[in-house]
Amino acid sequence: MDNKENDKEVLEMVEEAIDENRVKVYYQPKFSAKGIKVAGVEALCRIENEYHELVLPGEFIPVLERQESSDAIRRLDWFIITKACKFLKRLQRERLELLPVAVNLSRRHLSDEPVEHYMCSTANYMEIPHKYLEVELTESAAEDDSLELQRLIYRLRGSGFRVAIDDFGTGQANFKFLIENQVDVIKLDKSLISHGCDDPREKEVVRDLIRMAKRLGLTVVAEGVENARQWNFLIDHGCDLLQGYFAAEPLSEAEFFDFYNSIEVE
Ligand code: C2E
Ligand code: CA
Ligand code: CA
Repeated sequence: MDNKENDKEVLEMVEEAIDENRVKVYYQPKFSAKGIKVAGVEALCRIENEYHELVLPGEFIPVLERQESSDAIRRLDWFIITKACKFLKRLQRERLELLPVAVNLSRRHLSDEPVEHYMCSTANYMEIPHKYLEVELTESAAEDDSLELQRLIYRLRGSGFRVAIDDFGTGQANFKFLIENQVDVIKLDKSLISHGCDDPREKEVVRDLIRMAKRLGLTVVAEGVENARQWNFLIDHGCDLLQGYFAAEPLSEAEFFDFYNSIEVE
C-alpha cells in the first residue's frame, strides 16, 4: 500500500472512531515533588479499534498533521478539549479537588480558526474556570511560524488558560523561544533524562535548565520519569512536577477516578 492510501485509511479510521465514540482519553497524573501529591494530569488520546485494542497517537496524529487541510486534526483536538472539560466537570460533580488538565495541541492550529474561542466557549458552557485548562505546545511549532505561535500563546494566556512548552530541549529554537515567549510551564523532554541522570554531563545540563526555568518564574515538569534515581535527582534539583511510568502510567478515566478517589480518602 502506498503512503497516500495508508493515510486515507488512517483518516477514515479516525473519523469513524470519533463518530462512534471510540476515541478514548487517558489521563497521566503529574505528581508534585513536595508531598508526592497528584497536581495535574495530561490528557492523551487513544483510539479503540474493532478488536478493542488501543491504537496509540503516534500511529495517527502525524498522518492528520500532514494533511493539506487542518480539518481532521482540529476535529480530533477539539474533541479532546471537550473530553477534558467533561473530566473536570466530573471532578466537580464528585466533589474532588480540581486539577489542571493539560491537552496537547497540534502546531496545525497556529493559523487556524482561533482555538481559544473554542476552549472559552466549551469551558464557559460547562462552568469550568479557565485556569484548570492547560495547553501543551511543542517548541517545534516555532519552526513553522514563530510570530503566529507567539500570538497564539498570547491569546491563550490572555483568556486565562495556562500554556506549557512541551518536549523542551529537543528542538532548535528552545532558548530563543523562552526569550520571545512568556509561558507558564516548561516540560523537560524525556530524552534529557534518558541516562537516568547518572551521566555527569546530563546532570549538569538538567540541573542548570531547571535553575534557569525557575529564575524565569516557570513551573518545571519532567516527563518520562521511569525510575527512582531520576525521580530523586529531579526532586533534589528543584523540579516542581514529575510525570512518568515510575509513578503512574496514563490511566483510563475509570482507572483514574478509582486511583484519585483512593488517595483522596486516605
Ligand atoms: P507527548 O506530549 O510528549 O506525551 C508523552 C508521551 O510519553 C505519551 O505517549 C506518554 O504515554 C508517554 N510516556 C508517559 N510516561 C512515560 C515514561 O515514563 N517513559 C516513556 N518512555 N514514555 C512515557 P503517547 O500517549 O503515545 O503520545 C505520543 C504523542 O502524541 C504525545 O507526546 C503528543 O505529542 C501526541 N498526542 C497525544 N495525544 C494528543 C492529542 O490529543 N492531540 C495532539 N495533537 N497530540 C497528541
Ligand atoms: Ca505533551
Ligand atoms: Ca513531551
